[in-house]
Amino acid sequence: MSKTETKEFQTEIQQLLDIVINSLYTDKEIFLRELVSNASDAMEKLHFQLVSGHDIKDKDLPLEIKITTNLNEHMLTIADAGIGMTKEELTENLGTIAHSGSKAFVQNLAETGDNKDLNLIGQFGVGFYSAFMVAEKVTIYTRSYHPEAASYIWESDGKGSYTVEETEDLPRGTRIVLHLKKDQEDFAKPETVKRIIKQYSSFVPYPVSVDGENVNTVQALWTKNKNEITEEEYTEFYKFIANAYDEPLLRLHFSSDAPININTLLFVPKNNIEKLGFGRMEPSVNLYCKKVLIQAQAKDILPEWLRFVQGVVDSEELPLNISRETMQDSALVAKLNKVVTSRLLKYLGDQAKNEPEKYKEFWKEFGIFLKEGAANDFAHRDEIMKLLRFESSQTEGENLLSLSEYVERMKEEQEAIYYVNGPSREVIEAGPYLEVFKDKGYEVIYTRDSIDDYVLMTVGEFEGKKLISADQADLNLTRDENKVDGQEGLEGDELESFNEWLKELLGTKVTEIRESKRLIDSPALILSPFGSHSMQRMMQMMNRDL
Ligand code: ADP
Ligand code: MG
Repeated sequence: MSKTETKEFQTEIQQLLDIVINSLYTDKEIFLRELVSNASDAMEKLHFQLVSGHDIKDKDLPLEIKITTNLNEHMLTIADAGIGMTKEELTENLGTIAHSGSKAFVQNLAETGDNKDLNLIGQFGVGFYSAFMVAEKVTIYTRSYHPEAASYIWESDGKGSYTVEETEDLPRGTRIVLHLKKDQEDFAKPETVKRIIKQYSSFVPYPVSVDGENVNTVQALWTKNKNEITEEEYTEFYKFIANAYDEPLLRLHFSSDAPININTLLFVPKNNIEKLGFGRMEPSVNLYCKKVLIQAQAKDILPEWLRFVQGVVDSEELPLNISRETMQDSALVAKLNKVVTSRLLKYLGDQAKNEPEKYKEFWKEFGIFLKEGAANDFAHRDEIMKLLRFESSQTEGENLLSLSEYVERMKEEQEAIYYVNGPSREVIEAGPYLEVFKDKGYEVIYTRDSIDDYVLMTVGEFEGKKLISADQADLNLTRDENKVDGQEGLEGDELESFNEWLKELLGTKVTEIRESKRLIDSPALILSPFGSHSMQRMMQMMNRDL
C-alpha cells in the first residue's frame, strides 16, 4: 500500500524505554493496568464526542475492551473502540513527552534507578511505555473516529525508533498487540490476565473481557451518588473488596472537593479477626485514581490503629502532584490521611449518638483498636477519647459510659475522674478501694483490662480533669469522719508501734505502711506506688520479657 516511515523516539522517551526494558522491577503486571486505562480513556473521549453530536466512524460499535491471549504465539492483544489515533497523533502521543512533570519523573528514574517508582509510571503520563517491560515488540493497529481518517500500523521494539505505515481500513479504535519476551509468556495465559485485571482494573467503567469472558462486573460505587445506590449494591461491593461473606457493620461514603478532591467508601466489618487470633491485620484501604488501583493496602491513608477499616479512597489529584517524591512521603497522602481520618472519627461519634445499639456492637469488637489509638495517636487523641466506653459504679448491665457523660455527672467539688481495675464488678465492689468514693457519692470507672489502665494513665486527663487510679497511693481523698461510727483509731506512739509491728511482719512485701484516711468498713488496703496495681503488673510483665 504505502511506504513505511521510520522515526526516532525523542531522547527522554528513549531514556525511559532503556530503563523500562532493562528494569528488574518485579511488578511488571502493572503494564496491563496502564494499557487498560488507556483503552478506557480513549473510550471516554469517544463517548464525549458521541454525546456532543459529532460525526463518528462506526457509530454503533459497542464501547468495550477486548483482551485476547495467544500462548502459542506468545501474544497478548488489547483492543478498544475508542477514539483511535491519526498519523499525527501517533507520533505526538507515542514518541514524545511534552509535560515537564513527566520529564522530571524520567530524570529521577534514571538518576536513582529506583525500581519501585515504576508503579507511578501511569501517574506521569508515560504509562504506555510500561508495555516494554514484558514485550520485545509492540504493534498498534489504530483508526481514528474521524470519518475520513486513515488506518495505521505503529510498531517498535523500543530500541531507538518506531515505524508507522498506512494500512487498509480498520474498525474504529485501537488494538495493541504485545509480542511477549521469552520469559514473560505468563502474560499470554488467560488465568494470569484475568487475575491482574480483577486486581487493578475491576472498576474500569467499560466492560473488559478476556478471551470473550467478562471480568469486571462490579461498579465503582464510590463515584456514584449516594441516593442512587441500594443497600444490596453496597453489600455486594463490600463483599467484593473485602473478600467477605457477610454484611459490613458500618459504612461511610463521602465525597469532598476541598481541601482535596476525594471520593471515599469505607466499611467496618462485623468481626475483629485479630481478636480471633488471626494475627495482626494489614491496612486494608486501597488508593485509586479515577477508578484505577494505584496502591493496594495503602499504609498511609489511615493511622495504623484504624487497620480494621476496609475500603476505597479515590483522588483525581494524584497524578503529577506527586512530582519527585515517592507515594510514601508525599504531602498529598498526608493530606488525604487528614481528611479521611477526621471524617471517620466524626462519623463514629455520630454513630455513638444516633445509633447507640450499633455503636455498642462496634465497641465490643473494635474498642481495643480505639484504645490503641488513644494511647499512640497523639494527633487524634482528643477525638478518640470521646469514643471510649467503660463500665462504672453507676452503669447497669450492658450499658456503658463515655468520659463526657462521666464529667457531666461529676459532683460539684469532685476534681478528678477515678477508675479502678478488677476482674469483675463483684470483685471490685467487694474490695476496699471504693469505700471513700461511695462515701462521697463519686462515680468510679471499672476497668477490666490492663490496657484500659495503661491508656488512662498515658493520656492523663480528659477535658481538663485528671484521670486517677483509685488504688494510687497518694490519692487526695479523705472520708467524712462523721460516718465512722464512734470507733476510736490508734494515735501517736500506739499507731507507730503498730505500724512497726506490721512492717516486721510483712518485710519486703511492702515499701511503706500508712494510716488510711479513706477506709470506712475495711481494716486495710494495699496501694500501689506505680500509679495503679494494673500498671504495676504491666511493668512486671515487661521486665520479665527483658
Ligand atoms: P497518558 O495515558 O497518561 O496520557 P500514556 O503513556 O499511557 O500516558 O499514553 C500516551 C498517550 O497515547 C495517551 O494520552 C493517548 O493520547 C495515546 N493513547 C494511548 N493508548 C491509546 C488508545 N488505546 N487509544 C487512543 N489513544 C491512546
Ligand atoms: Mg495512560
